Amino acid sequence: MLYRQRKLDLPHGELDTPVLFPVRNVGKRSSDNTPKYVGTIPEFSAAMINARSIRNRDPMWNRLTNGVALREEMDVPEDTIIFADSGGFDFSEQEIDTTPEKTIKTQQKLDSDIHGTIDIPLSRENRAAENQRRIDRSIEFALEASDLHTGDALLFASVHGYDPETIRNNIQYLENRGDFDGYALGSMVPIRTDYKKVTKLVLAARNATEKHLHVYGLGGLVYQPLLLYLGVDSFDSSAFIRSAGNRNYLIPGFGGEELHNIEDLDRLPCPCPICGQRSLEDIREDRTALTQHNLWALATELRRFKYIAESDRDVENYLDLRFQGNEVTRRAYETAKQQVRRLT
Ligand SMILES: [Zn+2]
Repeated sequence: MLYRQRKLDLPHGELDTPVLFPVRNVGKRSSDNTPKYVGTIPEFSAAMINARSIRNRDPMWNRLTNGVALREEMDVPEDTIIFADSGGFDFSEQEIDTTPEKTIKTQQKLDSDIHGTIDIPLSRENRAAENQRRIDRSIEFALEASDLHTGDALLFASVHGYDPETIRNNIQYLENRGDFDGYALGSMVPIRTDYKKVTKLVLAARNATEKHLHVYGLGGLVYQPLLLYLGVDSFDSSAFIRSAGNRNYLIPGFGGEELHNIEDLDRLPCPCPICGQRSLEDIREDRTALTQHNLWALATELRRFKYIAESDRDVENYLDLRFQGNEVTRRAYETAKQQVRRLT
């Protein structure tokens, strides 16, 4: 089995992995509308933020350069672990308006525990030559960041590729020429419904390095158990916010359910601190509550997997059950299982 547990020693504290970094939209809007979760869900005292959107929001950036700390601005405790990505996801559509130097200085100013290097996502629509150019630039940016990086924060190189060989080669190239604490696999979101392809690419990355492996943007309810099984150390997701916006209720072990499909129920099938005491009617009207429940659902899915692994139950039996309800993810898991068995 490739699933593994480790501990990261970071400037703001230790972090047990595997872990989910909930995406905070601080900087993306005038105020951060992510409801409070740090301090209420113990394992999620961490957040993924977008360095570029914070840097580009003038009033916020002015406060931060005038002595306000990011954690103060976000209203979270001092020991909150922050992973600041470059915001490169936005470059799939627009021109790059930053440099490795500007990005890393921003990350240092934000006092993030983990810095992600600039990445330029690949696009399904783009020609192979254009995508190769993007892959090469992401590599150059990562190596520049490695030269500029100082301090105790960890530096993760962002890696892209459309086939397992490219991903393997890129990680080995970066490993030989730069100094990175881990790798973060990007460009998975546009192909997320192609589960087989995603699992192959993740496995290629996992096999190419023993170091920390993060996968950008795929920490939702269905991907989470799959990524844990493939030995991924961390992932991030904004699924809890997006789903709540669509009145989509995440159910651990199943997936998302649109609330209008079950409106005759009095109580929701979840005993979390949000749903346990309240009626379905009540939660449906309260988007903040729905967002908080959705985050509890992600925590429950993660806790369940850890329990299965810790109690010496058969993880593959658990996943057979977990994925039996959906033909597409079941087949993806079967493929992953064959590949993992060949490796272990
Ligand atoms: Zn709940």
